[in-house]
Amino acid sequence: MKSYRKELWFKTDQRRKLINITREIEACLAESSISEGLVLVNAMHITSSVFINDDESGLHHDFEVWLEKLAPEKPYSQYRHNGYEDNADAHLKRTIMGREVVVAITGGKLDFGPWEQIFYGEFDGKRNKRVLVKIIGE
Ligand code: ZN
Repeated sequence: MKSYRKELWFKTDQRRKLINITREIEACLAESSISEGLVLVNAMHITSSVFINDDESGLHHDFEVWLEKLAPEKPYSQYRHNGYEDNADAHLKRTIMGREVVVAITGGKLDFGPWEQIFYGEFDGKRNKRVLVKIIGE
């Protein structure tokens, strides 16, 4: 069995941002030369997510509105976690959007259903953060 590991770095200019990282994961897969197996992609921080969904701007707006209803950023004082930090909402948003995805690799390609794309979801950005890519297989 072969294995491959890589860290991808992100620094968003906004507090919250959704980034399509499908091309980056495909590049990792090509670099790994693994054609049958699994790829795990996970956020290495507890205020950001990796998830799979549609790359459609209306939906991305809907995610922002929905997450702000569930865990509004402000007022910061509404959260016990906020003291030294102001990112309680980001922890909650990350939990809902998920930590990681696993995708099957078949014939050297990500074995997606229709419209599936991999996203990095940043909820407390403007600093360097990492995503882990681990690929195992043959
Ligand atoms: Zn925190």
